[in-house]
Amino acid sequence: MSWAQRIEQALDERLLASAYRQRQANQGGSTRGLTVDGRRYLNFSSNDYLGLSQHPAVIQGWQDGAKRHGVGSGGSGHVTGYTEAHAAFEQRLAQWQGYDRALLFISGFGANQALLAALMQKGDRLLADRLSHASLLEAAMHAPSRLRRFQHNQPESLAGLLQPAVAGETLVVTEGVFSMDGDEAPLAALAALTHSANGWLLVDDAHGVGVIGEGGRGSCWKQEVCPDLLVITFGKAFGVSGAAVLCDEPVAEYLLQFARHLIYSTSMPAAQVVALDAALDCIQKGDELRQRLNNNIHYFREGASRLPLLMTESSTAIQPLIVGENHRALELAGSLREEGLWVTAIRPPTVPEGSARLRITLTAVHQRDDIDRLLEVLHDHC
Ligand SMILES: *Cc1c(COP(=O)(O)O)cnc(C)c1O
Repeated sequence: MSWAQRIEQALDERLLASAYRQRQANQGGSTRGLTVDGRRYLNFSSNDYLGLSQHPAVIQGWQDGAKRHGVGSGGSGHVTGYTEAHAAFEQRLAQWQGYDRALLFISGFGANQALLAALMQKGDRLLADRLSHASLLEAAMHAPSRLRRFQHNQPESLAGLLQPAVAGETLVVTEGVFSMDGDEAPLAALAALTHSANGWLLVDDAHGVGVIGEGGRGSCWKQEVCPDLLVITFGKAFGVSGAAVLCDEPVAEYLLQFARHLIYSTSMPAAQVVALDAALDCIQKGDELRQRLNNNIHYFREGASRLPLLMTESSTAIQPLIVGENHRALELAGSLREEGLWVTAIRPPTVPEGSARLRITLTAVHQRDDIDRLLEVLHDHC
């Protein structure tokens, strides 16, 4: 098969399965609203849970940072792209989370890839929750270690996989809050099992940090678990982008030698670091924002429980409504769009076959009226 045929066939298959993905350029907006083709929509698809992408202090931080440092970092952190702003923010993150060290990455996807690629060797085993994010599973599949997946949020399933001893090392991987389901991992049970098998635990808390736990410290803090490796990302509650890996001193030094995504990639602009520093201020002082978010979550769940759609066990900002078939999810998202609501249909392979869903996300800046409107339209179309 030629390149052209192969590509055409792959696209045809996607189309036939109602799984074809398309981006739609928007004309900007806020966390709460979005303008597309000149029309205003209420936005229920953003991960900007606290609205910090629009926060004056965060914007000011970026502007001040750009004035002071320019807009680009000029190179990898191993060359000239590591400023005192980077160093100070890494130290602040480490202290905040109770780790020796934090290392900044330009994306969570890259951080996960880099970690697994640098750590896993032949003979090791990687045990991951089966609903782990694509960035983790993708990296796991390319690693020389053996990948096994345990049943979602089921420590007994992990226990089974841990039974046979292996010669190499064991890394257990989970998320704090699952990105497509919104439910929280039983971190204490997973950590206990992992450590009793002399393994290490990696928690990706992309959706937990900033919104969960005392002071927004995240899922691990809330569950009083200290994983060996913690990944936090800045594209969600921080409202910016980028990520950090939190770890002990030797692991940080090891990653600085061997994490290729860090070494061979231009570092995050210092101006962005200054914006992130301002976002962390907002998160640390963010009890009121988190309270508003939680009120919105409760209010939505109460209303949605009366709909003939399956909800997940989520008490987080991610509130998926499971629809089932791809075409149904697309249809429903289309109907909502006609009514002025922007909600994304999530289909396989992002989620398991037959579990296509509307991934509704709530934020601290949604108003009661917005949620009433969403519930009303869902009620009319379900
Ligand atoms: C969004 C996300 C990532 C990727 O982070 P980016 O910084 O957007 O690349 C990684 N893991 C999880 C669980 C995520 O939800």
